[in-house]
Amino acid sequence: MSSDSTVNEISELLGSLRENAQYLGELGAETVELVADRADESSLVSASVSVVSGPPNYKATATTSPRTNTAPDEFSTIRTRTTPISAAPQDTLFGDLRPPEPSLNQSTETLEDVWRDIGDCTRCGLCEGRTQVVNTHGNPKARLMFVGEAPGADEDAQGKPFVGRAGQLLTKIIEAIGMKREEVLIGNVNRCRPPGNRQPTLEEAAICRPFLFREIAAVQPDVIVVLGNTALRNLLETREGITRVRGQFQNFRGIKVMPTFHPAYLLRDPSKKKETWEDLKKVRDYLDGLRQSQS
Ligand code: URA
Repeated sequence: MSSDSTVNEISELLGSLRENAQYLGELGAETVELVADRADESSLVSASVSVVSGPPNYKATATTSPRTNTAPDEFSTIRTRTTPISAAPQDTLFGDLRPPEPSLNQSTETLEDVWRDIGDCTRCGLCEGRTQVVNTHGNPKARLMFVGEAPGADEDAQGKPFVGRAGQLLTKIIEAIGMKREEVLIGNVNRCRPPGNRQPTLEEAAICRPFLFREIAAVQPDVIVVLGNTALRNLLETREGITRVRGQFQNFRGIKVMPTFHPAYLLRDPSKKKETWEDLKKVRDYLDGLRQSQS
């Protein structure tokens, strides 16, 4: 790898650390020390992120110091790796703010149990602007699940995820791989419509997503398709962007995860439908292979 590309890698890493630092600032963190990989500290980069908190005027800085014996390729290993969400809480960006997560194979809950627990939720500020909670919907024995960001106006009015224009496109995507919408499970990271359809904040997402994880543990689908950055980042706890990781199977506690573009993005840029189709063909082929090996 040339020194130019090493410099580029480092500046990308710095950019992503700066973003993480800003998020930590939103959460009220003041200082955090990150070590990229505890398994092999001698060969990786150590990074220190300092956050002076107190929105709206907090300041975030990030520095990295590559170990002198670090092979350049190891930068790309760090940058492209997505940390499985099952990592120990102290190893994660969210530290001990993250509630304990149920082990997938130990769940004895049903979807109804999870929904009962959610109830008429007031755990975050999104409850103030919503009409109703929009829970995950579909087949409780689904082999395939789709996860989006949060309900929009149509979903908020009807109480079901993905029923608006983006939802109609999602239905076509599902049908394109030979399945029916009723066969799959469809949910969101957040269950209440954010005002003006803004992205949920990191804190709102962190409060709501444990319910999604419990639903996943209850259903244990074979594949989860994450639609867009919010779903990708909350399920896999990565700061990677969808454009970089789409089309590559990831792992969420033993379940295959396929990141692809959000249908709302496809409505804005139909030229990206081709990539989504490529991603979904991989999902279809994987599920077909599983079915054949099980029959
Ligand atoms: N966009 C989403 O992310 N989820 C929905 O339910 C609808 C639109």
